Amino acid sequence: MSKSSVLGYPRIGADREWKKALEGFWSGKWEEAELHSRFTQIRLDHLRKLKETGIDLIPVNDFSYYDHILDTAVMFGLVPSRFTYHSGTVPLSVYYGIARGTKEAAASEMTKWFNTNYHYIVPELNGTTPQLTENKPLIAYREAKEKLGIDGKPVIVGPLTFLKLSKGYAQSEFDAWLEKLLPLYAQILRELEAEGAVWVQIDEPVLVTGVSDEDLRRLQTIYHTLTSAAPKLKLMLQTYFEAVEQFAEVVKLPVQGIGLDFVHGRQGNLHSIRKYGFPEDKVLGIGVIDGRGIWKSSQREQLKLLQDLASHVPSDRIIVQSSCSLLHVPVTVERETRLPSVLKMALSFADEKLAEIVLLSKGLVKGADAVAEELDQNESDLQALQQSEDRNRIKIQQAVAEWSAHEPVRNRPFAERYAAQQAHWQLPLLPTTTIGSFPQSPEVRKARQLWRKGEWSSEKYEAFIHEQIEFWMKLQEEVGLDVLVHGEFERTDMVEFFGEKLGGFAFTENGWVQSYGSRCVKPPVIYGDIFFTGEMTVKETQYAQSRTNRPVKGMLTGPITIMNWSFVRDDVSREQIAYQLAYALRQEVEALERAGIGMIQVDEPAVREGLPLKASEQSEYLNWAVRAFRLTTCSVKDTTQIHTHMCYCEFHDMIDSIKDMDADVISIETSRSHGELIHSFEQNTYNLGIGLGVYDIHSPRVPSVDEMTAMIERALRVLDPKLFWINPDCGLKTRGLEETAASLRNMVEATRLARVRV
Ligand code: GLN
Ligand code: ZN
Repeated sequence: MSKSSVLGYPRIGADREWKKALEGFWSGKWEEAELHSRFTQIRLDHLRKLKETGIDLIPVNDFSYYDHILDTAVMFGLVPSRFTYHSGTVPLSVYYGIARGTKEAAASEMTKWFNTNYHYIVPELNGTTPQLTENKPLIAYREAKEKLGIDGKPVIVGPLTFLKLSKGYAQSEFDAWLEKLLPLYAQILRELEAEGAVWVQIDEPVLVTGVSDEDLRRLQTIYHTLTSAAPKLKLMLQTYFEAVEQFAEVVKLPVQGIGLDFVHGRQGNLHSIRKYGFPEDKVLGIGVIDGRGIWKSSQREQLKLLQDLASHVPSDRIIVQSSCSLLHVPVTVERETRLPSVLKMALSFADEKLAEIVLLSKGLVKGADAVAEELDQNESDLQALQQSEDRNRIKIQQAVAEWSAHEPVRNRPFAERYAAQQAHWQLPLLPTTTIGSFPQSPEVRKARQLWRKGEWSSEKYEAFIHEQIEFWMKLQEEVGLDVLVHGEFERTDMVEFFGEKLGGFAFTENGWVQSYGSRCVKPPVIYGDIFFTGEMTVKETQYAQSRTNRPVKGMLTGPITIMNWSFVRDDVSREQIAYQLAYALRQEVEALERAGIGMIQVDEPAVREGLPLKASEQSEYLNWAVRAFRLTTCSVKDTTQIHTHMCYCEFHDMIDSIKDMDADVISIETSRSHGELIHSFEQNTYNLGIGLGVYDIHSPRVPSVDEMTAMIERALRVLDPKLFWINPDCGLKTRGLEETAASLRNMVEATRLARVRV
């Protein structure tokens, strides 16, 4: 008989009690003992829920005090040497020090977990010899067994993935590191075996991104070693987010189970199974329920898929499971009270997904008839949304289809626009500007809350926003910036703000997911055809322009960023969604232009986040992403200057696509990465306007004139001074007033000195 399983469950709790417990501890509200007791409570509640829902293989050790990759590093005693630590269990203060930094030592780097919005702490391997400081999976296994009688399935990050995600060692040392780590992994498994564990899930998501022959050889070594260390344990080698590479070889590895993603890697994995079959001695973990999307699955279709696979693998060797950990979706739909019912009925968050998995597993064992009623209900829920007005705005669909088929090009090429814009704007050499937002002070946030609660009238709130704008316009003039911004005081968040003003979006009350550490995000839901309902930014921008003679730059979030930071519908392609967004945003661009705003910035910080994991699919994505940007911006006059902005990511391999966006000016985060980016421009002639950020905005420290001068000079060695702009790395909304003013003064001074020299 097949079994049901999930690969991991959200930590944060339906009420974000995990976040609250953690932040309370950080702020000193309670002691370590209280944190432990709250976390234990949360963990046990979750385990109980999984059991009650009827999941057979319940994951343990997926819970974390911050991040599971950091947990793994710390379990191996891999503490960067700048922290004080000798041996034994790593104290919580050191653990959180690595994650967040201390007064004495900088935090470890944090980076995106594959193509999700979850961020992990990058392990640093330099120097230290790994040791097993505690057997975390064993502790988690025991807890579930002793307290709840659950025979859990410990989840462990596999050695290949762990090493590939770590830094601080040379490629030539990879195998030496593997040799050091393998005995520790072996010990963990031996102890789990002795304790009576049956299944262990070993996550190796790097197997979907590319497996070299060298990796295959390493995998052989790894899994031979681990299997012989604990021969009675069943190891589930788990992959997700895409189809596994080198399928034929990977399935031959000496493990008892192979877990594959049949949602995001559906085609590739199906193709491989049909071509190569599946080994007779192994269990297949079939990821049929999407662990990262928020929609109910089409259950009848997924059951067919399971039945189809059961012709390759007998059903007693099938585990029906989520495609990846449920960490990436909110906890439950049940708590949503304000969503349109047609939408709510089509949603499935973590808890609903548990039920879907149990249902499909039952369907596989007993046949579709045994679950016919549920399947019918599911079909009608999905159909209701599909047939709703929200998804059938035929006029918009047709308009977008026609419009997006045209080649999106500006009237004239950049060189000619450049001349026209110079004549029109008369900007000095090395123009100075900022990225958009100014400090969101406690008063600004307070005012917004009061207005949202209805305690402030719209007039009062608007007057308050005007005061803020007025203040910052004066300050920018006084500091001596050339291109000013209104400051984005009216915006909570650069995606939510636009989503709330566009049609086709919905907002949950509790749809939080962990982004990093205690930081959770509540992405908007794009569930219908998107449409423009009216001007979104014109009023504030126009007000700002009325307070100054210098140009004010309008400020929008671009289509790709809005899409990548939202949960999106899965019945149309992402490309289509991007074009619908572009169609709506272009109307805003044109409205700004009509209102006399002649510089318009369309931010695209999240372009890289949508990049497919498979290298072969990346250029197609970049093509339509660039196209969506151009569709948004190409209709303006020659003298209207289109800006864009990017941050948070590496750009070195994307410069051609960035050029293709054909923005008159781009500003890029540079200083945070200590100018590494400037390198890439040495080999690559970027010949449009560009501002490489001259100071990091993540710290309250005021950068000196000298520091910024150094950054400017470095950049000018590779870039044409006629095209170069001076700006900070990113928006300033998280900074304070004093430091912002002081930093900008220094920036203008550094620019003045640079102008004299070029
Ligand atoms: N215009 C936005 C701001 O300044 C850009 C934010 C971002 O790039 N993340 O806040
Ligand atoms: Zn930015």
